[in-house]
Amino acid sequence: MKNIAILCSGGDVSGMNPALKHFVEYSLQNGLTPYFVYDGFEGLIDNKIYKAAHQHVAGIINRGGTIIGSARSKRFMEREFREIAKNNLDALRINMLLVLGGDGSFRGMELFYKEHGIRFCGIPSTIDNDINGTQYCLGVDTALNVIKDSIDNIRDTAASFSRAFVIETMGRNCGYLALVSALCSGAELCLIPEIEYDLKEYEESFKEQIRSGRKYFIAVVSEGIKEESSEIAKWFEQKIGLESRVTILGHTQRGGNPTIYDRLMAYKFVTHAIDGLLDDKNESVICYSKKGFEYKSIDEVANKKYELDSELLGYLKRF
Ligand code: ATP
Repeated sequence: MKNIAILCSGGDVSGMNPALKHFVEYSLQNGLTPYFVYDGFEGLIDNKIYKAAHQHVAGIINRGGTIIGSARSKRFMEREFREIAKNNLDALRINMLLVLGGDGSFRGMELFYKEHGIRFCGIPSTIDNDINGTQYCLGVDTALNVIKDSIDNIRDTAASFSRAFVIETMGRNCGYLALVSALCSGAELCLIPEIEYDLKEYEESFKEQIRSGRKYFIAVVSEGIKEESSEIAKWFEQKIGLESRVTILGHTQRGGNPTIYDRLMAYKFVTHAIDGLLDDKNESVICYSKKGFEYKSIDEVANKKYELDSELLGYLKRF
């Protein structure tokens, strides 16, 4: 069979649209007929599977999100619905699938492959950068740039108005976004779930900095830490003596014009994913590290916990 499909599953990220564009172009270059599956695994079950062509991906490279939609699907967890999904793919003679998503989506696909032989390659896509086996997930760079712009803007007002700002990033239990943002934005405080902290240890040093002329503080905290951001702000007011404000960046981090790096990574991930399927890789995830691109098993990617880069953690310990 020469038909191949792509779907987005779980949280959307900026970089999915550039990936869809290259998927169509690279499939056609390789003599494959590309299909889009709309709304993730839900669309597989509901047969929202349509042939894709150049005109469907014209003008999308600069758009965040995904033009084919993403979803979570409770039904796909059940065997009878996976059977329906398989029949829908069979009717279109599709037996290769690219899946942009996270470890949950890859686990679902592994099961689907084992039951029905639909070959797939996963492309790690989440701004949290918390998938084991890959040092980069699609969407991370755009999210970091959104955070950078926000912190730069906050710094303008913080500098004019002697305040402490607590800026909360996404990341679930992974502190990657907060840590990289703190290092690149000159923050005074960074709190992430991977590192125990005791605010008391900062009190003397922060008060001394104020006595020496410091007018404001920027704290970047990850959503997964043990306290609410409002508690950190209260600490600044009560213990450091500075008026404080909280900014929760929330879903702004998931959108926006995909950066050059995410466009390039989308291009490379898709190229390797299609090459892998053409090269008879049946069930893998294309991962990226300093060594380059590698195909990894679902077991390695989805069943083991990620670990935050030790070099980055080392910088935080010296903060
Ligand atoms: P993100 O974490 O960015 O949201 P994810 O791919 O990890 O991405 P999940 O919500 O964990 O997101 O999974 C996406 C979908 O994958 C689920 O809604 C479900 O349809 C399917 N899925 C997850 N785990 C399984 C499983 N064990 N068996 C079958 N399907 C699964």
